[in-house]
Amino acid sequence: MDGPGPGPGEAQAGLPVPVSPLVRRVLAPNPSALTGRGTNTYLVGARPPCTVIDPGPADERHLGALLSAAPEVGAILVTHTHGDHSPGAAGLAAATGAPVCGFGPMLRPSVERHDDTFRADRLLADGDAVEGADHRLVALHTPGHASNHLCFLLEDGGERLLFAGDHVMQGSTVVIAPLDGDMTEYLDQLERIRSLGIDRILPGHGAPIDDPAVHLRDLLAHRAARAARVLAALVDAGPLGATCDELVEVAYADVPATLHPVAAYSAWAILRASSEATSDCPDALDGAWRSNRSAEARPGQA
Ligand SMILES: [Zn+2]
Repeated sequence: MDGPGPGPGEAQAGLPVPVSPLVRRVLAPNPSALTGRGTNTYLVGARPPCTVIDPGPADERHLGALLSAAPEVGAILVTHTHGDHSPGAAGLAAATGAPVCGFGPMLRPSVERHDDTFRADRLLADGDAVEGADHRLVALHTPGHASNHLCFLLEDGGERLLFAGDHVMQGSTVVIAPLDGDMTEYLDQLERIRSLGIDRILPGHGAPIDDPAVHLRDLLAHRAARAARVLAALVDAGPLGATCDELVEVAYADVPATLHPVAAYSAWAILRASSEATSDCPDALDGAWRSNRSAEARPGQA
């Protein structure tokens, strides 16, 4: 089905688009290869004060757009502390007096853009609820893309909506960048989301996902296929092994070369999570990896 309002190719930064009776989406003006058309900020609540999910980058234009769409804010929720999701929280909190709510700082060092300015007035753990005038959001701790990642579940007019942050995206692939990102946790949390019977996913990037069951099935299959390609390339590299950059040339040959540095993060996350791969320096992106699988095990495998 077509979602209400403009599709992903038509969404305009700063203009609120209705997503459901309780939810509006405001696209931030930060398009890039990693953020797609930009970060989605969601405004929840038909009656003020509303709850803001992911205020996005610290950008005066975006702050102005949020304040004109939602002059009264009851709470500011942050899915995780990457630079395209949380830095706008401080300015929005200063302008509205609303508390900033999130999991807290990342648990491990990150190679991704981390928002060191992030301060939470209220720390949220798995299962905690945030109440608005006409809505209730439940936090789900979903580490994987980031160790402090939260999704938020909303029951809205008989529909179960999931605000997925960067756990699930529409139109681009989620990057898992160690050490803070963790592929095993990520896949576990995708399975968990899959088991919740969500009707629609509202991602941090891209348009609403109207068919979560199909989308998550395809996403898990895509992840499994990519992991198989990385591990097969490692077998082919022989006893001397290979670095993530070398494996990406083979296993991500179908992905534009401009994205290979980011793909190397995902290859690294796959290798760290696999019992088939070993490295003398698994915490370093440029370390060499070797396969535990013998080359003879290869024939007959895709
Ligand atoms: Zn992120």
